[in-house]
Amino acid sequence: MKTHSAPTVHIVGAGLAGLSAAVRLTAARRRAVLYDGAPQAGGRARSFFDSTLGRTVDNGSHLALSGNRSLLSYLEAIGARGSLTELRPAAFPFLDLRNGERWTLRPGGLWLFDKARRVPGSRPADYLSALRTLLAAPSASIADALPPSGPLHERLWHPLGVSVMNGALDRSSARLFGAVLRETLLRGEAACRPLFAERGLSAALVDPAVSWLERNGSTLRLGSRVDGLERDGDRITALSVSGMRVPVGPADSVVLAAPAWISSRLLPGLPAPAAGRAIVNAHFRLAESPSDAPLLPGGLPFLGLVGGTAEWLFLRGDVASVTVSDADALADRPAEAVAARLWTDVASALNLDGPVPPVRIVKEKRATPDQAPAEMAKRPGSRIGLENLVLAGDWTETGLPATLEAAIRSGERAAGALLGARGTTFSRLGLFPAFTLPRRGPI
Ligand SMILES: Cc1cc2nc3c(=O)[nH]c(=O)nc-3n(C[C@H](O)[C@H](O)[C@H](O)COP(=O)(O)OP(=O)(O)OC[C@H]3O[C@@H](n4cnc5c(N)ncnc54)[C@H](O)[C@@H]3O)c2cc1C
Repeated sequence: MKTHSAPTVHIVGAGLAGLSAAVRLTAARRRAVLYDGAPQAGGRARSFFDSTLGRTVDNGSHLALSGNRSLLSYLEAIGARGSLTELRPAAFPFLDLRNGERWTLRPGGLWLFDKARRVPGSRPADYLSALRTLLAAPSASIADALPPSGPLHERLWHPLGVSVMNGALDRSSARLFGAVLRETLLRGEAACRPLFAERGLSAALVDPAVSWLERNGSTLRLGSRVDGLERDGDRITALSVSGMRVPVGPADSVVLAAPAWISSRLLPGLPAPAAGRAIVNAHFRLAESPSDAPLLPGGLPFLGLVGGTAEWLFLRGDVASVTVSDADALADRPAEAVAARLWTDVASALNLDGPVPPVRIVKEKRATPDQAPAEMAKRPGSRIGLENLVLAGDWTETGLPATLEAAIRSGERAAGALLGARGTTFSRLGLFPAFTLPRRGPI
């Protein structure tokens, strides 16, 4: 492998954390070399062509919100601000699969005082319970902080909590859930508009970053697994990349942006949360051509489901994708059984019948770190006492649950730590003007 005399930042892992660190460093005129063991970048947020469906699908449907400021700054930085579609005004449609009841949560303004915009059966005062997650002790679970039953629990806190935290409410950190509410729901309508990757995660978040990095002198090496770090005192002196030694020069540094379970293998003794639960996605092709696809009620691209197994339904062209979080038990079942179970929910939501159509099941076994309070207490910051190595990844200390926003923020912070500007972000550096997104018209 070629070595370079110019100072280089070696970045292990080209998921969103590694990509965001690389973008920030490259913008600051450092040369980044990213190594990823996989054949494509994007890590847990990627697209692939499925030959059974004849369509490009995502490993799992992702939902982001307009309050995800680091995600939006990252898109601005790579010139991809048009790659996500914003649903405006914010709306979260739901269906109860048991009785067909539908409602749409429409946050913003005086929404809590409008029955038609809040969860049926809930009262404005019920929503104040959300504040308890903000003030919760570090050891508290969401179940400790929120009332255990009632319409709001069943129809909002439970579905939202399980999908945001990828875990049961009684073993997921209340503080982290509160941080999401603080950055989105509590900031008003403009911070909780759903953002979708209509053309897929890779096209929206990954490919534009890779092109931008390559245009600006940085490099991505795919199929390059980092299997060891050589250390001399508190410096990393070499990487082993697919068995080959790559020297880390005196002016070079390393960003370790691999998942927690890989990072702690590369740095024995590193404190890290355990791997968490599976997320299962099923992608059903509903028609021979995208133009024959059914529509969701109101023409919205997604629907929250309660009372079944599937939790969120996304419609992209003629592919209906459903996602199930905290899904270890489901992931242990054969793909055909998973498809049959989830098709029942999709068919019911879309008023379809007939046998299971062409389908692809994706089981992401370690979709996130374990977000129980005790595991989250192990999250390290970006600096761990090594002179030329910093950490990034959704599992590191960001104050947020493991999400796209956390991964991107961690990458920014890791880069900031190397640049000596801890905590600054793309936008605060003044590198990029304020962003605007393409609008999906009012619905
Ligand atoms: C199915 C699913 C649904 C999700 N839904 C949402 C959602 O709706 N909203 C949301 O905000 N978040 C969601 N998430 C979480 C989000 O995808 C992750 O938090 C984020 O992508 C993590 O990025 P990362 O860079 O920290 O880690 P990763 O994406 O895991 O990146 C790490 C990279 O390191 C590489 N790597 C590993 N070992 C090595 C090695 N030894 N050498 C070199 N490279 C290595 C991997 O190949 C990978 O590319 C979801 C995750 C999954 C799996």
